[in-house]
Amino acid sequence: VYMTCIPERPSKIKRRITMIEKRIPMYTSLDQAIRDIFGSDRTVDKKRSVPGGDINRASALTLDDGTVIFMKSNSPGFLDIFEAEVEGLEAIRKTGAIGVPVVLGLGREAGFSFLLLEFISGGKKIPDYWEVFAEELAAMHRKGRGEVYGFDRDNWIGAGKQINSTRHSWIIFFRDCRLEPQLALADRFLSPEDRKRADYLLAHLDSYLCEPEAPALIHGDLWAGNMITGNDGKGWLIDPAVYYGHPEADLAMTELFGGFSGRFYAAYRKASHLEPGYEDRRDIYNLYHLLNHLNLFGGGYLGSVLAVLRRYG
Ligand code: ADP
Repeated sequence: VYMTCIPERPSKIKRRITMIEKRIPMYTSLDQAIRDIFGSDRTVDKKRSVPGGDINRASALTLDDGTVIFMKSNSPGFLDIFEAEVEGLEAIRKTGAIGVPVVLGLGREAGFSFLLLEFISGGKKIPDYWEVFAEELAAMHRKGRGEVYGFDRDNWIGAGKQINSTRHSWIIFFRDCRLEPQLALADRFLSPEDRKRADYLLAHLDSYLCEPEAPALIHGDLWAGNMITGNDGKGWLIDPAVYYGHPEADLAMTELFGGFSGRFYAAYRKASHLEPGYEDRRDIYNLYHLLNHLNLFGGGYLGSVLAVLRRYG
């Protein structure tokens, strides 16, 4: 099933060039990175861990002049995840619509790969925190326009590979590159009857979903843990799994695990144009995330997956 999505995946080399064009430096050691970014005599004085990450080690590095920066690190093979994160953060930053941490650099040395970001110390929330976040998210969806659905590279949704081969139709993209690959991985959890329901849903997706006005840049993994209070007291986005898709998919995901205020939903509806029937489409979008969780974390998510399949399949 993955085969349907392979052709437009860029090569590693092309990706490197893209990184250079964007002037995000790729370093061969952490020391080199620190010296290049902050000056030749800067060194790391202290390192403390930051709790809360799912996959990577997160640390606050304090340099000898007191500057604090944020570092994610992992084994060397994780550089691709960090590259994807950089491209996602840069795509969001380019819209100028919403806060994201500044990317300082990334790299790999003998034992590990790393990503360096501006440290977010989480100031006091502004009074209309949720309204502003909703408006800025809607602005990102409006301003981040793509030609096609997908993205110029694959990325990661948690530890799951996310396929971003492009399509001219949102519905076809969602079928080929979102539901189908996850369903193929989930096959071992599904009875023949449930698999039939899944196939029915895939074949009739166009009677449930609708095409947006245009491909819109979406965060892609918008649960509450990927929203953080930025240094200006507004809601910022971190850890994206971006692609050009339907903004409704971001909205749907905020509802999957909760944590977003009712004020956010009221303001988002005001700031954007939601087509009628969103509530009926929401669970189909979230089926993708539920399947990803099923594939990553196992059977605890099976009941939720089956509930959606039995409703629509
Ligand atoms: P992972 O990729 O492992 O899921 P996250 O991006 O979720 O890691 O980040 C791990 C932790 O670090 C979270 O608690 C998050 O709030 C915090 N964090 C993420 N980015 C920054 C940053 N730029 N500055 C300070 N803390 C951050």
